[in-house]
Parts: sequence; C-alpha cells; structure tokens
Amino acid sequence: MRLSRRFALAAALVAAAPLPAQEPIKPAGQAEVRPNQFRTPEFPAPSILDYLPRNTLVVPTHMVPRAKFPVVDLHGHPPTLVLPEIINGVVRSLDSLNVRVMINASGSSGTRLTQQIAGVQAAGQAERFGFFTTLNLRDVGPGSGAMIAAQLETDIKAGAVGVGEIGKQFGVSIKKRDGTRLQIDDPELDPVWEMAAKLKIPVFIHVADPAEFWSPLDFHNERWLELALFPDRRYQDRSRYPDFETLMGERDRLFARHPKTTFVIAHLGWHAQDLARLGKLFDRFPNLHSEIGAVLYDLGRQPRAAHAFFVKYQDRLLFGKDAFYPEEYPYYWRVLETEDEYFDYYRGYHAFWKMYGMGLPDTVLQKLYFRNALRIIPGMPRTGFPK
Ligand SMILES: [Zn+2]
Repeated sequence: MRLSRRFALAAALVAAAPLPAQEPIKPAGQAEVRPNQFRTPEFPAPSILDYLPRNTLVVPTHMVPRAKFPVVDLHGHPPTLVLPEIINGVVRSLDSLNVRVMINASGSSGTRLTQQIAGVQAAGQAERFGFFTTLNLRDVGPGSGAMIAAQLETDIKAGAVGVGEIGKQFGVSIKKRDGTRLQIDDPELDPVWEMAAKLKIPVFIHVADPAEFWSPLDFHNERWLELALFPDRRYQDRSRYPDFETLMGERDRLFARHPKTTFVIAHLGWHAQDLARLGKLFDRFPNLHSEIGAVLYDLGRQPRAAHAFFVKYQDRLLFGKDAFYPEEYPYYWRVLETEDEYFDYYRGYHAFWKMYGMGLPDTVLQKLYFRNALRIIPGMPRTGFPK
C-alpha cells in the first residue's frame, strides 16, 4: 500500500508518542476512499439542488392512484366551499383518489362556517365534507375562555363537527391582551377544552414544527434546504420564540389537564422521526390521537418500525393530508399500502432520502382511513363506508 508522505509522517508521530485515539479529520468536501485517505472530486461538485441521479434500481413497482378503502381526510385545506363549481371540482378530485369525506380543517366560524355548510348542501355534496370551527385566540385576557367556549358551542350547533386546525402560531407567536405569549396550557382557556369534551367533539391541534427548525442552520441540519428556502420556518432566535421542548411541555400539560377532551395532534406531533416518543404519549394520554399529514417522508424511511407502530397504535391514528394538492395523495397510498422500495417523495426539500412502503394490513388501513375518524367525530357524514 502506498501512503502519502503526510500520512506516513502522521503515522510515525502517532507511533512515537501514543495519544488517545482521535477521529481523523475529514477535509471539507473530500471523500474517504480508504481508511484515513481522502480525495477531492476532479470536477466541481454539483449543489444539492443540481444532483439528481437517475434511479437505476429495478424492483417491482405498484402505483396506487386510488386508496384501497374510502378515506376521511381529517386535515383538509380545500378552497373556500361556497361556489358550486369549486365544490364539484374538489369532489371530482376526491372521487379520483377514493377520499370519501374531506374535513375542512381551515377552521371557519360564524358566517364563514354557515355559508360553506349551506354551499355544500346546495351543491348536493353535504355527504362529502365536514367542517371544523376555529377559535379566536387573539388578545386572550380575563373572561376570554368563557366567550370562546360560547362561540364554540354556537358553531357546533350550526353544524361544525370539531375544532381545528388550531394553528402553529398558538404557543409560538400569539400574544395575550397583556402582551405576554399565550401559552398552550394557559388556564384561561380551560372552559374551551371542557366545552369540547361536553360537546363530544375532537380538538385538532398543530403544535410547533419539526425540531430541526429550532436547531442551528448548519450543514448538519437535516432540514437545511427547507430552512434556507423558507425564512418563516426558522425559530433559532430565542429572544423571539420559545424553544421546542417548552412547547412540547405546555402541550403535554394541556392533554393531562383535560382527560375527557379528545385531542388530535397534527403531523404525528412532530415525533415521526422518534415514534417511541409518540408511543409514550399515546400510553400516557388515552384521550390522544394523531394525524399523519406532511410527515410521510419520516414514515417512508423506516417502513418496518412505522409498520410496527401503526399496528400497535392502530386505534389512535388518522389519515390527513394537509395542503390540498390532489396529485400528492397517491404517494401516501403507496407508502401505506405497498411494499415498494426506494422511490421518491413528492417534495425534495423535505427529504434527501427515498421512500419504502409499509405494507399495512387491511384492518389497520381501514382504521387509519375511516374507522377511527367515524368513531371520534360523531357529527361527520357517515355514508359510503364499508360496514
Ligand atoms: Zn393544516
């Protein structure tokens, strides 16, 4: 073996004066080709945006344009559902995907809510949509909780079937009347969560964002590209934002204080990359469920662990997609239903890795797709699902 002179000298020094073992330092941009030997590419390296190698792996592929069973999309953000041509256009997309009911989780209250309920009825599509109402969490002060709870009761009487999506600004940036940050477990809001329990409706809540959004924006950050693309996803500034674990603590205290309220946390609680942590939450809080929207990239990189988790917690998981782009749903069906290997995710900046199918059994798919939703949202449309 031919060693470089520098390496030989270094080796001689190490031999002469034994030192504690040290990690060899890899020069930036160089690849190790043999132990402790580095090479620099002969050509300028492409950026992470440019390097898109074609996939030469030949394995069976199973595209899944339609879900195997009718689906409830708990986390829908359709356009405003008032005009019949808009409503019918959304329904055509849902039909092509086998989504039976979309819950409009954009959260509308008062006339915005009643106009949409009237809109889908007038279009003859009332069986295809459910509506969540929203909570006005701005300027909370003494007495706000009772007022918000009263509005919630009014909206549920008007036809809403749950609360949500409570947005991620809650806890992160929404201020109280006195100028302080509104904490997720603020006792002023207790009457709201108790009202939801009394009305037997779910509370769909998005807390925080991926933990990497709080980590330093360096080349070790798994979400570097996403953070470089979206300034409003950067929470590194501790003078402006609470840290990730502060938000998790407030969230968990909220669940603990209202055991009779059914909570659905969005995006697997941002624990999709640490399912054991989410499992501990499910074990601790029987009133807790979760929705799987926009974290498919984390499930698809751990198909065996995710399969085991979905089997174990099959009564606690619900399908949700989040952003309404019909062409993206089939990626979910493929990850959840097939055992395909090494295929692309739909957004490159979320995942620098490939997806693998979880191959979930039918009983689990049915619970994930519709049975759990029918159970925890008593007011939603119930036609068109298998017995
Ligand atoms: Zn959402």
